[in-house]
Amino acid sequence: MLVVMKKDAKEAHITNLLTHVQTFHCRGHLSQRRINTVIGVVGEKASIEQSCLESLEGVERVEALSGPFKLSSRAFKQEDTEFSIDGARIGGKQIILMAGPCAVESRAQLLQAALAVKKAGAVALRGGAFKPRTSPYSFQGLGEEGLRILAEARDVAGLAIVTEVVAPEQVPLVMQYADVLQVGARNMQNYALLNAVGDSHKPVLLKRGLSSTIEEFLNAAEYILSRNNPRVILCERGIRTFETSTRNTLDINAIPVLKSLSHLPVVVDPSHGTGKREYVAAVSRAAIAAGADGLIVEVHPDPDHALSDGAQSLRPEEFMRLVKELRPVAEAVGRTL
Ligand code: PEP
Ligand code: MN
Repeated sequence: MLVVMKKDAKEAHITNLLTHVQTFHCRGHLSQRRINTVIGVVGEKASIEQSCLESLEGVERVEALSGPFKLSSRAFKQEDTEFSIDGARIGGKQIILMAGPCAVESRAQLLQAALAVKKAGAVALRGGAFKPRTSPYSFQGLGEEGLRILAEARDVAGLAIVTEVVAPEQVPLVMQYADVLQVGARNMQNYALLNAVGDSHKPVLLKRGLSSTIEEFLNAAEYILSRNNPRVILCERGIRTFETSTRNTLDINAIPVLKSLSHLPVVVDPSHGTGKREYVAAVSRAAIAAGADGLIVEVHPDPDHALSDGAQSLRPEEFMRLVKELRPVAEAVGRTL
C-alpha cells in the first residue's frame, strides 16, 4: 500500500503511522516527494485495512501498490534515485564509468589497471577477490589478500572499489574494503545474500541473473530495498539466448524497460554482455544512447595472460579510446561523461 501524507503532515504523524504499521508486522518506507511524503507499506502479512490507515492523522489518501514490486517501482518513487559512491553521483546527469580487471591477480596488475582506468575517466575500480567461476578448477580469486590489494589501489588511484561478495557470511569482511558490494549474476536469486547486503547498508551493484526476467530482477532488488537499503544499482550484463556468436545477449531493451518501471539507476556491463573485446565499444555506445546511467567495463593491462575473462577485457589504451568515443554519444542524449 502507498500512504500519501498531507502536505502539512507533521513529523509526529509520520512516526505514528510507522509505529502503527509495525504492530501489523509491516514496515513503512519513506519517499520524499516535492510537496509531501509518501510511505510504502510492505510486509509478509500486509493485512492492514486501507480504511484503518486512512483514518490516521496526517494521511491524505491510501492507494494500492499494485504490481509485483513495490519499493523499486516508479509508483512508490517517481524521481530517479541518485546517490553518491565515494563522491561520484550515480543516477543523475553524469554517466559514470566503473572499470578494471575481472579478477585481482596481483598487486602489480591491479595498480596498473587502477591508474590506467582513473586516467581515462573512471570513478570506480572493479575487480573480484572472490570469483564465482563456472568450473571449480578455474581461478577462484585471491580472497582477502585481493581485498587488501583493492584497498591499496583505492588509496593510490583515488577510486571507489566495486567488488563481489559471494556468500552472506562474507559480507562483514568484504564491506570493510568495498565501496560498492557486487552481487553477481549467479547469485541474483540467493535470497540470504540479498538480505545480507541489504542489511549492510552499503551501495549494491546487483547483476541480472543469467536467465532472469526483468520481473525477477526487480524482485531481487526488492529484497535489498526491503531491508532499508535504498542504494541499489541495477546491472544489465546480458542474458542467455539461443545465440552463440557472443557469450551472452545484451538486452538493450532492458534499459528503457527498467528505467520506466523503476527509479533505480541502471548500469550496463558490455564485457560480460558480449564476451568479446571487439564488440565492447559498439555495445557501450548503444547502452548510453539507450539511457544507461553508467558502464562497468573489464580492463586488463595484459588480457592475453589474464586469469579470467581475458577475451572480453580491453587493454588500457582501448579503454581510453572508448571513453573518448562515448563523450559525444552522452552529449547527444543530454548527459555528461
Ligand atoms: C564479473 O563481474 O566478473 C562477473 C562474474 O560477472 P557476472 O556475475 O555478471 O557473470
Ligand atoms: Mn568477469
